[in-house]
Amino acid sequence: MSKLSRLTVLGSTGSIGKSTLDVVARHPDRYRIVALTAQQQDELLFEQCQRFRPRFAVLLEEAAAERLRKRIAAAGLDVEVLCGAAELERVSTLPEVDAVMAAIVGAAGMPPTLAAARAGKKVLLANKETLVLAGHLFMDAVRRSGSALLPIDSEHNAIFQALPRDYAGDMKQSGVSRILLTASGGPFRNTPLEQLQSVTPEQACAHPNWSMGRKISVDSASMMNKGLEVIEAHWLFNAPADAIQVVVHPQSVIHSMVQYVDGSVLAQLGNPDMRTPIAYALAYPERIEAGVAPLDLFAIARLDFVAPDFQRFPCLALAYQALRAGGTVPALLNAANEIAVAAFLERKIAFLDIPRLIEAVLGKVARSEVRELQDVLDADAAARLAAQEWIAR
Ligand code: NAD
Ligand code: MG
Repeated sequence: MSKLSRLTVLGSTGSIGKSTLDVVARHPDRYRIVALTAQQQDELLFEQCQRFRPRFAVLLEEAAAERLRKRIAAAGLDVEVLCGAAELERVSTLPEVDAVMAAIVGAAGMPPTLAAARAGKKVLLANKETLVLAGHLFMDAVRRSGSALLPIDSEHNAIFQALPRDYAGDMKQSGVSRILLTASGGPFRNTPLEQLQSVTPEQACAHPNWSMGRKISVDSASMMNKGLEVIEAHWLFNAPADAIQVVVHPQSVIHSMVQYVDGSVLAQLGNPDMRTPIAYALAYPERIEAGVAPLDLFAIARLDFVAPDFQRFPCLALAYQALRAGGTVPALLNAANEIAVAAFLERKIAFLDIPRLIEAVLGKVARSEVRELQDVLDADAAARLAAQEWIAR
């Protein structure tokens, strides 16, 4: 029987957080929850506390934490309620924690994820923004502390599965020629270009294949999600930009592929359900049941592939550009995108303003080198300011 694994789930009330707890609940003999965290959803966090009995529950907002404290006390639960961003780092580095599911959305997820890596925890990485912002620092922390790093993003999880087990970040030595990063193309793959200007947040969030949080849904509609994933793949697998090919595959059945020098292409397939990569990462190197229906190839019948359209999706081109520029440019791209997506969701800017805003910020805020975390935080703050100014112009 396997050793019990004790988990902190950062962002437990989100789409990935809930899917994680769904898998955990299927294997009560294997997993214990030490800490659950959320921004402000105290009602759902309370339900999760009742069900999973963590030692700690963290909320970002004081009013929400106070409400949760009262309900925890009334229910007689033995859960300590903490409040504030610093507590996220604390529950990610506790000695009794074996693994941290990093499932906070956005740059806010980076500090506790980095802290978990520095503390040598097994990191289950959904928060791709950590790698976009601080890829170099994060991968260094993983190497130094010897922590295990398992990608949750379905594409990167697929690539991880298709690479040799002993892959050590050297494509050449492993005979890897290219990474084929699949993309669904999102809800606007075939929308007439003249209609894109007036698409709504509801249309952008209606993803054809995946059910996800609102931010990543908009990123999928603009294909910035794929751009961030190109940067994520660069850091995870030490792959140069030129060796990462985006392949639009509308069915989202192949989650990505690895091409080898001998002509072999290895793919990982499955239904589009995040519980598969979550279960894979939780149990690695074993396999556990995830509640996912078996793939019905006869029902799928065909798989299509097309090249990405950089004109239709300028965000994808901007992300490649940011990766090639290096330094703080990916952090600038990410921050500008976060502000742009939030403004689009609040109907303050149009969908096509997202790449315009990002391009304007990249033109305005100068690139610098990333030597330490503060360089990233400074770039992030400067880009957010420039983005707000662009919106208010
Ligand atoms: P979500 O919006 O559904 O959930 C986000 C979680 O983070 C919630 O628990 C929320 O309370 C918490 N949170 C939000 N802002 C916070 C802040 N400032 N400080 C602390 N906590 C905060 O997001 P999601 O779709 O689950 O995505 C989470 C991460 O996983 C993202 O980085 C996303 O890119 C990545 N990811 C998601 C999917 C997916 O299918 N949803 C797939 C691949 C990767
Ligand atoms: Mg993905």
